[in-house]
Amino acid sequence: MKRALYIPFDHLHRGYGALKGADKKSDLIILVESQAMINGADWHKERLFFLISSARHFAQELRDEGFHVRYLTAKNTVAGLEEIKKEFPGISFIAAEQSSYRLSRSLSAFGVEFVENDFFLTPRSLFISWASSQKSFLMENFYRKQRVRLNVLMEGDIPIGGQWNYDKDNRLPPPKNYQWPPYLEHQRDEIDREVAAELKMEATTTWATTRVGALAQLKYFIENHFEKFGPYEDAMALDSWSLHHSVISPYINNGLLHPAEVIDAACASFYKGKVPIESAEGFVRQIIGWREYINGMYWFLGEDYRNNNQLGADRPLLPLFTDPAKTQMNCVKSIVEDVKARSWVHHIPRLMVLSNLALITGTNPQEFLDWMRREFIDATDWVMVPNVIGMGVHADGGQMMSKPYAAGGAYISRMSNYCKGCVYNPKLRVGDNACPFTTLYWDFLDRHKESFVKNHRMSQQVNGLKRLSDLDELKHRAQEVLSGLEKGEI
Ligand SMILES: Cc1cc2nc3c(=O)[nH]c(=O)nc-3n(C[C@H](O)[C@H](O)[C@H](O)COP(=O)(O)OP(=O)(O)OC[C@H]3O[C@@H](n4cnc5c(N)ncnc54)[C@H](O)[C@@H]3O)c2cc1C
Ligand code: SF4
Repeated sequence: MKRALYIPFDHLHRGYGALKGADKKSDLIILVESQAMINGADWHKERLFFLISSARHFAQELRDEGFHVRYLTAKNTVAGLEEIKKEFPGISFIAAEQSSYRLSRSLSAFGVEFVENDFFLTPRSLFISWASSQKSFLMENFYRKQRVRLNVLMEGDIPIGGQWNYDKDNRLPPPKNYQWPPYLEHQRDEIDREVAAELKMEATTTWATTRVGALAQLKYFIENHFEKFGPYEDAMALDSWSLHHSVISPYINNGLLHPAEVIDAACASFYKGKVPIESAEGFVRQIIGWREYINGMYWFLGEDYRNNNQLGADRPLLPLFTDPAKTQMNCVKSIVEDVKARSWVHHIPRLMVLSNLALITGTNPQEFLDWMRREFIDATDWVMVPNVIGMGVHADGGQMMSKPYAAGGAYISRMSNYCKGCVYNPKLRVGDNACPFTTLYWDFLDRHKESFVKNHRMSQQVNGLKRLSDLDELKHRAQEVLSGLEKGEI
């Protein structure tokens, strides 16, 4: 064996990364099940199940194809590679560039040689040169460049449909009396059952653990959900856990799907006339815009970015995040229950409910980040750090997003059907029935008014404080709410 090709659990694609051009005769393929990773945190079981079972299936598929594969269980990744080095002295280690600072450092110190990470559509160097030329890192500007560079939904220099952005059409609340299509279920096989038994759990049928399953999920989305994706992408509903979202993030993140094939499938469906432009554009924006932007920003902003806490938020993680029985807030309870059930909720519950709550309660950003990392099936360092620290809780002082995504109950009430069955009233900011989001939103603005008033995108919201005749009462209620949340009684 001449080369050892190390395949981390997020590079599970035959045609990309170190496996591109692999030779069955002279290459040894290495996957390492790291005990440090598995036991390093109290991970959501569905998440561990998904990552391990996908890797074991992938190793088996490579063996079936005729490759020499070693699937090792070791103390940590480097310890696994050491075993190979002992057995094959002089073998060279190759991997695609890793997706986190930590692994990049440890593998590089071990002597692994990196090839380009092509699991994204934008080379890191290209993103860094874009970001270095910007005054503010507006995603919209990056996205328009991506549309042109990658020639996605373009007619020459003109975006198809004549507009770059259909956000205005894409903010509908959940429809009433609506039949959501059933969810695609993924049946379990022998490898799945073996992994679930080792983890002492019963896996749901939510997540595929093979490329065939991931491709089936993509096809199911394109055929059953894509048409209505755009208009309802911001909606939240009690009667559907995924609405018209694609539910493919775990697969694009672990390599079972490549973003290029997702874009090809989406564009093919659009060109066949099966989906309106607002849905096609809304979806393409997520894949070639947001996803690439977040990965680029992770590498652009540097390793220390994760430690930002510019709003000085030091409240410990609230008990409701680990136990939904510790809250009466219908929206939060239902969303945390969904996270417990499947390790996933879509973008708006993550941003406008969970992160918003962490933001306006002044929860410590690193504690909240750790919770999100542990609980979500699609969480990895590159994607969670900018999404939480920059977008979710504005802990970077506006380096990434020019204003915090803080909102009161009115937003949640408009975009969901949670409020009708809630003990709280989204319109009230004071009194026992006041919606905690509404009270804490104003309290948050008041606490940070001096710094926010200098931000022209926030000044209108901050000036709204002057119209509140009950500010003292509100501040008193905010203290009651915060202490009730800490006790798990609100
Ligand atoms: C606080 C917070 C934390 C998040 N953490 C993660 C995470 O750990 N892993 C993750 O993959 N996504 C994360 N996201 C982004 C987004 O919520 C998920 O990608 C999305 O909900 C996954 O569901 P879906 O596949 O149905 O997505 P869809 O709504 O169908 O969108 C399609 C795809 O677009 C991509 N995408 C859209 N927005 C983003 C984004 N902001 N960052 C990266 N990719 C994006 C994803 O690959 C997603 O699969 C986070 C967002 C927020 C606000
Ligand atoms: S009233 Fe407030 S707490 Fe209750 S569901 Fe609505 S937004 Fe959530």
